[in-house]
Amino acid sequence: MSDCLFCKIIDGSIPSMKVYEDEFVYAFMDIGPLSKGHTLLIPKEHVANIFEMSSEVASNLFAVAPKIANAIKDTFNPAGMNLVNNNGEAAGQTVFHFHLHFIPRYDETDGFK
Ligand code: 5GP
Ligand code: ZN
Repeated sequence: MSDCLFCKIIDGSIPSMKVYEDEFVYAFMDIGPLSKGHTLLIPKEHVANIFEMSSEVASNLFAVAPKIANAIKDTFNPAGMNLVNNNGEAAGQTVFHFHLHFIPRYDETDGFK
């Protein structure tokens, strides 16, 4: 999708800090991290949200989620991690290309409730 920010990140026309890439998915550091190591995982196919996502795209995306979580854990050594996904403006979605947030948690002082 030509006017989608995350499609532009996938095709390299907008720069990003890449964490992982394969045929189906792309993972990169969030530009406004809620905690150290905040990472986004997105499908390469443009899908606005969970309501539009096929099982095949979901399967390829969630298949790599443990790999991404463990890479973040090994790099930043958090105490835990939230996986978050917002669908629709009412739910707080601001970029309308599906993305799964990986938000490392350190302790109660990490500033993210
Ligand atoms: P949402 O609110 O839609 O669930 O999350 C969108 C996320 O995308 C936010 O955490 C925001 O910081 C991140 N984001 C927005 N624009 C960019 C960008 O240009 N580059 C990167 N790396 N992250 C972005
Ligand atoms: Zn897109």
